[in-house]
Amino acid sequence: MERKNGFNTRLLHDKTSLGYAQREILPPVSQVNAFRYESAEELERVFQHKSAGFAYTRVGNPTTAAFERRINELEGGVGAVAASSGMAAITTALLTVAQSGDEIIAGTGLYGGTIDLFRDFEKLGIRVVYARETSERTIKSLITSKTRAIFAELIGNPSLAILDVPKVSAVAHEAGVPLFVDSTTATPYLVRPLELGADVVIHSTSKYINGGGNSIGGIVVDGGKFPWDFKKHGALSDFSKYGKLAFSVRLRTDLWENFGGCMAPTNAFLSYIGADTLGLRMERICRNAEALANALSELSDVDVNYPTLRGNAFERLAKSELGGRGGGILTFRAGSKERAFKILNALKFAIIASNIGDLRTLVIHPASTLYLHSNREETEAAGVFDDTIRVSVGIEDVDDLVDDFISAIKTSL
Ligand SMILES: *Cc1c(COP(=O)(O)O)cnc(C)c1O
Repeated sequence: MERKNGFNTRLLHDKTSLGYAQREILPPVSQVNAFRYESAEELERVFQHKSAGFAYTRVGNPTTAAFERRINELEGGVGAVAASSGMAAITTALLTVAQSGDEIIAGTGLYGGTIDLFRDFEKLGIRVVYARETSERTIKSLITSKTRAIFAELIGNPSLAILDVPKVSAVAHEAGVPLFVDSTTATPYLVRPLELGADVVIHSTSKYINGGGNSIGGIVVDGGKFPWDFKKHGALSDFSKYGKLAFSVRLRTDLWENFGGCMAPTNAFLSYIGADTLGLRMERICRNAEALANALSELSDVDVNYPTLRGNAFERLAKSELGGRGGGILTFRAGSKERAFKILNALKFAIIASNIGDLRTLVIHPASTLYLHSNREETEAAGVFDDTIRVSVGIEDVDDLVDDFISAIKTSL
């Protein structure tokens, strides 16, 4: 049997990087709005999709396309669309399949911004039904004839609940419903959800894929396998001639183009080169996060949540789905909001900032920031309490990181 190349080799030597116009190793930055044509006929053919080419960057740009091809290949999809942000990616992906009168089932422990977005969906007439837990049994019980998509985070940010993709996609498919997975916190390094049964994968590329904290962005990758029933999935009915590609085609040529949430070419370039080190960073970040979680779990006065800790509710899924790795985020409860603030203020290296997936370790008190607009029920469902601190672990030397946290926790007493 032929040995399969490793993650980093596949990432750095994928075929999508061949064929740049001047044989560049990286995609050139086409930081332009429009593309010039020699004749009216030529531009007409491009607009009719009869010949390949770019016309206007909101609708397509070679640098952005290079980034899309790269992430599409990493995830094993049939096509990807890059967006101006993770939120733009989630919005366009879900509105491509759900319209007024339809329902979406949402997993537990979602990112705060997504919960806010779903309140806007309600105003557009799309009902969002939250599952108390993202188990196949609970999801199954919530599916109705109006359900158009199930949306869940692979590793909940910051609940750290892990989605059982094979089981949940199986109950979804039985009911003729696609599974949309926000895999931002897991990254294709830890898991490729399309291979496990998910239908659409979404990333906020602002986080681990970019990795350097220098560009907001998002991406939607279509697995291209879902058998759309166009009577039921009315939002796609005008695209029925595309069959299994109906989602991709509507996403790109309709909503994404019309909403105008394209990724800026320079952001696509920065995210592309950031992704070069995705494997290296994730390897180090996961190792650091596990070491920090282990060290903190030995303290008697803080309560740590990290998937691979012994006794964690998701220990088994971290093994089966994430290769025994727990990702780059951990949370811990400090006992009170006051103490949580004291700890944050006492940290030397960990930076107080509202972001995750940076090379640098970042910390935040989610209840007073990310969940400001959420009610208590939504907040607690996300694993956020008044004394919770979220840590997005970076690539620092682990001993310095552990020392920083232990001494901040001790001085906060
Ligand atoms: C950050 C984040 C988003 C939103 O992405 P933006 O790029 O900030 O718009 C969505 N989902 C998850 C899990 C996130 O962490």
